[in-house]
Amino acid sequence: MTRVSSFVCVTCGVNTLADPSGKPQESCIICDEPRQYVRQGGQEWTTLEELKSSGKYTNVFTPTMADPEHLISISTTPSYAIGQRGILIKTPKGNILWDCITLIDDETVRKIKEEHGGLKAIVISHPHYYSSLKDWSEAFGGIPIYTHTNDKQWLQRPADNHIFWEGTSLDLLDGEVKVLCPGGHFDGSSLLLWNKNLLVADTMMVAASRKSVSFMYSFPNYWPLGPNEVQTIWKTVRPYEVNNILGAWIGKEIVGNGRNIIFNSARLYTQYSGHDSNKFYGSDSDELSFSK
Ligand SMILES: [Zn+2]
Ligand SMILES: [Zn+2]
Repeated sequence: MTRVSSFVCVTCGVNTLADPSGKPQESCIICDEPRQYVRQGGQEWTTLEELKSSGKYTNVFTPTMADPEHLISISTTPSYAIGQRGILIKTPKGNILWDCITLIDDETVRKIKEEHGGLKAIVISHPHYYSSLKDWSEAFGGIPIYTHTNDKQWLQRPADNHIFWEGTSLDLLDGEVKVLCPGGHFDGSSLLLWNKNLLVADTMMVAASRKSVSFMYSFPNYWPLGPNEVQTIWKTVRPYEVNNILGAWIGKEIVGNGRNIIFNSARLYTQYSGHDSNKFYGSDSDELSFSK
């Protein structure tokens, strides 16, 4: 039997290294901390090979509502682990994948290369979506993977071409794509801005109404962020025009008026959590008419 060097957590889909004897670790560092949870029945591991050979899962490509031509969701069906999507961003200067999913197979690689023009880099918003990032990088010839250095402690299995970026913003493809790091959900929790589309991952969550967003330290365990952290997220977005907001799941999209929606949501969030929203947002009241 071939020695296995890494395992996939069945609950969160993140890859982890085997222990020195070749067995899975006792717990998953992503699931076994307050933002996530260990599934009922306890920690369970699989491998990427098992996942692929099970024949149960395939990746599907779905045009987004925000920009069906240039922003394509890549997700696994039936839903696997957290169930997030990656978003393929097809810019005039090349393609970038925002966030990552656990399953990577030959058909997914073929489609991206032959039908969508390949992939130049992968940017991952935060540790919940690290998934099989090393295998994704290798499948495309060792393309760079960008994750924020603030979250380095959560990364167990980096890619060979792994770039830990620092600070609050990162320009890619000659400034065509901008990555912003307001933190909050994780210290390195990031956003990606391209062509007035804001890809938000878990830095904010598109609400069921698709008319507002919310902000949480933990979504599954319902732990909110504080008003200062939410204000930092708003201040990070404030300098930019944002039309559309794309969350981490298919259907979690707000089409149009994105910047005002983030501003109003941050204001209301602060008010409903018992703080003086004027203190945090009063001087920004003119923002409501900014990006019509
Ligand atoms: Zn896990
Ligand atoms: Zn998350």
